[in-house]
Amino acid sequence: MNALLREPLAPFYRPVSTECALFETAHAKGLPLLLKGPTGCGKTRFVEHMAAKLGRPLYTVACHDDLSAADLIGRYLLRGGATEWVDGPLTRAVREGAICYLDEVVEARKDVTVVLHPLTDNRRTLMIDRTGEELVAPPGFMLVASYNPGYQNILKRLKPSTRQRFLSISFTFPDPVTEAAVVARESGLAEARVQPLVRLAGHIRALSGMDLEEGVSTRLLIYAASLIAGGMALDKALEAAVIEPLTDEPDVAQALRDLVASVY
Ligand code: ADP
Repeated sequence: MNALLREPLAPFYRPVSTECALFETAHAKGLPLLLKGPTGCGKTRFVEHMAAKLGRPLYTVACHDDLSAADLIGRYLLRGGATEWVDGPLTRAVREGAICYLDEVVEARKDVTVVLHPLTDNRRTLMIDRTGEELVAPPGFMLVASYNPGYQNILKRLKPSTRQRFLSISFTFPDPVTEAAVVARESGLAEARVQPLVRLAGHIRALSGMDLEEGVSTRLLIYAASLIAGGMALDKALEAAVIEPLTDEPDVAQALRDLVASVY
């Protein structure tokens, strides 16, 4: 959990469609936003970029299966013999009119949804049962959540009653031209040398769902390009940044190596 404070320069984000305008309008109108999409396709970077552009602090919470409502709202802690209330990141975001980003929200415990509901309709309120406070979110506050539909199982689906409280955008991997520009910029590798990597990614993503749970992410392509820019041999870079992270199965790894050979 961290708060990124106002930055003079927004972190680099290359828009794929009209997502920046949608975010800006949702923020102006006080509407919550859900970002759907696979890991490493730019959701977090997008939120960081927009928070900086809008001049709002950002609280990011990586949700996990043990994350409870109290972790978001806050709790009494013992400090020097006395108990003291300490706000959680969601409460801080509401008090400060900040943006709160709940990454992989479906992972969190069920009691979290109960907290989110009054914040995501026109009440825009956060109930803090333990202190008896009811906070009304100021205009700058925005709730953003993400989830990866690919990871979901029946037990971890986002309930329709929760989904229908959010505007939603589907994120996929950027188109090849955008992705090559992003990978080149982030890794420092010349775009001409990034292009075959992006072509390889296209082939690998066509395989996902069959032998691979998920296609290669933009993040992994940036890792591969960074290794190559750092002087590593191509095959070693691809082995460490693409093949090994994607599979533990020797057969699948070999199929990926064959794909590499067909691209290079
Ligand atoms: P997610 O939150 O979807 O798992 P991230 O936002 O962490 O993914 O994206 C992984 C990396 O990919 C980022 O660090 C960033 O370098 C890069 N990236 C992906 N898409 C874009 C984009 N459209 N503009 C700029 N960087 C991007």
